[in-house]
Amino acid sequence: MSMLNGAANNRLLAALPNSDRQRIVSMLNGAADNRLLAALPNSDRRRILASCEPVELALAEELYAPWVPLRFIYFPISSFISLIMPTGDSGAFEVGMVGNEGMLGISLVLGAEVSSQRAVVQGAGLALRMEAAPFRRELRRSKALRGEIDRYLQLRMGQLAQATICAHFHLLEARVARRLLMTQDRSRANTFRGTHEVLASKLGVRRVGVTEAASSLQQRRLIHYSRGDITVLDRRGLMAAACKCYKADRESYDRILGQ
Ligand SMILES: [Zn+2]
Repeated sequence: MSMLNGAANNRLLAALPNSDRQRIVSMLNGAADNRLLAALPNSDRRRILASCEPVELALAEELYAPWVPLRFIYFPISSFISLIMPTGDSGAFEVGMVGNEGMLGISLVLGAEVSSQRAVVQGAGLALRMEAAPFRRELRRSKALRGEIDRYLQLRMGQLAQATICAHFHLLEARVARRLLMTQDRSRANTFRGTHEVLASKLGVRRVGVTEAASSLQQRRLIHYSRGDITVLDRRGLMAAACKCYKADRESYDRILGQ
């Protein structure tokens, strides 16, 4: 917030047309709200920001399609993105979520031009995006960026392993509770969009199973849902209903990212 106020009070910025000023203010504000960018030394962050542009991501917008060359990487600010692996029989399974703790476009870090996964916006909001070529240059130039991304990669690999364990061993109701908590954390709101169809497709299960699980959580007054909006009424209760993966994920965030 101090960055935002600072930028608005700067004489040079104040003289710019509204749209330009808003763009710069969004970027400064956004950099502070993306953990990966915030962890960089000032000089590196400034240089990287100069190659970024703020974008508003819309709900359900597809940012990456499988095997299509990646044009941009994204640093989410208030948005968050779901990583979805097609299962080959027109189904899909969510293998991770990217919020303001990290970035979308890890394939480029690993030297690939494409990704096997779809990336779909699950929480609308602001992100900073950067074209692939300047991002690759920064990876070579900034040791700090590379180091932060390496730690983030470790986190994402852990997230993937956890998703596999969760799908294989845990009961659907506990998985639904976990998924709702993960969404609540990233949307930073008690109410968010989430139909049973979408939830079922992310968890790789049939819709009827999600409906039963959500009804049970609603009967216990942990959540309330109506017309595609889900409200968390009792976060503590929902945490008790969730499988252990939720806590394990949070612990790895704390350990690896030191949050
Ligand atoms: Zn689980």
